[in-house]
Amino acid sequence: MSRAYDFLIVGAGLYGATVAQRLHEAGKKVLVIEKRSHVAGNAYTRKMEGIQVHCHGAHIFHTDDTDVWEYVQRFASFNRFTNSPVANYHGELYSLPFNMYTFNRMWGVVTPEEAAAKIEEQRKAAGITEPRNLEEQAISLVGTDIYEKLIRGYTQKQWGRPCTELPAFIIRRLPVRLTFDNNYFNARYQGIPEGGYTAMVERMLSGIEVRLAADYLADRAGWNALADRVIYTGAIDAFFDDCLGSLAYRTVRFETEALDTPNFQGNAVVNYTDEETPWTRIIEHKWFEFGRGGDGNELPKTVISREFPAEWKPGDEPYYPVNDEKNGKLYQAYRALADRETNVVFGGRLGEYRYYDMDQVIASALQKSGELIAGSGKAE
Ligand code: UDP
Repeated sequence: MSRAYDFLIVGAGLYGATVAQRLHEAGKKVLVIEKRSHVAGNAYTRKMEGIQVHCHGAHIFHTDDTDVWEYVQRFASFNRFTNSPVANYHGELYSLPFNMYTFNRMWGVVTPEEAAAKIEEQRKAAGITEPRNLEEQAISLVGTDIYEKLIRGYTQKQWGRPCTELPAFIIRRLPVRLTFDNNYFNARYQGIPEGGYTAMVERMLSGIEVRLAADYLADRAGWNALADRVIYTGAIDAFFDDCLGSLAYRTVRFETEALDTPNFQGNAVVNYTDEETPWTRIIEHKWFEFGRGGDGNELPKTVISREFPAEWKPGDEPYYPVNDEKNGKLYQAYRALADRETNVVFGGRLGEYRYYDMDQVIASALQKSGELIAGSGKAE
C-alpha cells in the first residue's frame, strides 16, 4: 500500500526547511512536523516593540559559499549588517575579533610588527609548541594577556568546563588579524534577513504541509506509517532513546526585556568576558537592523537579551554539542546505529552532533536533498 507522503521531515529548522523545500520543488510529497509551536528552529525571530528579536540567541548569517548565498536570497533580502562585537572585561572595552584595535588597547602597541612580537613573546614564555586543547591554542594564537582577559572566563561560562578540557577547534572559529578590522567573520557574504528568520523559513516552506506541536518521538510508529522515508533533525541520542547514554549539550537561558530607552549598549553584541558576570553576552536586537523597525522609523524603545549558558538536562532545549573526546566517541557509537537505519537520514546540528553554523547546515541539506532527488540516497 502506498503511503501518503514520500518524505516525513522531523524538525522545521534550517536543515529540515531546506530539505523540505528542495524535495517539494522536485515534486515529492513532503510532510514537515515540528515539536515546537513555531518554525525556524533556533533561528526563530519574533517581533517585540517593533524589533525582530532573535529568541534563541543571535543569528548572523555569513558564508563563503556562493551557492548557499544565492539559495537564501530566494527567500529573503539580506541587510548589510556586519558583526563587530565588543568585549567588556570589568568595564574595559575591547574590539573583537582579535585585531589591531584589540592589541592596541591591551598593550599600547601601534604597528602589526609590535603586536606580533608581543604575541610571540607570550607564546614562548608559555612554552607551547603543539597546542593540545583550547587554552594552549588560545595562548599560541593571541598570548596570555588576551587569553586571561577575553577568553578564559567567557569560555568557561559558555562551556562549563575548563579551557584545558575543551577542543582547540572551538577557538579557531574566531579570526586573529594584524589589521584594523572589527568584522567578526572572514566570510565573503554576511547579513540578516529583512523581516526576520521566521518569515524567511515560512517562505521556504510555502506550499508544504507543516504540523506544529507534533512530537515525532512520542508516536514514531504512527508518524513512520505516513511516509516512505524520514529525515530526522532532532538529537541523535534521543532518537535511540539514549540507549548508549546521553550526549552532552549546552543549553542557554535567555532573559529578555524591553527597556524604555532608545539605546542601551550601542551595539548588537557585547560579550562579558570576566568570570564573575553570570551572563556571557547581552544582545541588543534593534542594532541587527540599524535601530530601525521594518518601516524604516527610529524606534523609541529597545529590547535586550542576556544569555546564561548551562549544562543541558532533559526538558531543556539543546543548543550546542559538546565536541570533546568523550562525547565524540559516544557520538560515533550512535552514528554506527544510525548507519543501520535504512530509511532515516540524520541531519543538522543535533542530528549530526556538530557545531554547524547556519550556512553549513544549509550546504549539508542542499547536498543531501540533491542525493535524495537523484535517487542515490538511502540514509548516508
Ligand atoms: N570566545 C571567547 N571570548 C569571546 C568570544 C568567543 O573566548 O569574547 C570563544 C569561546 O570559547 C566561544 C568560542 O570562542 O565558545 C566561539 O565563539 P563564537 O562567537 O563563534 O560562539 P557562538 O556565537 O557560536 O556562541
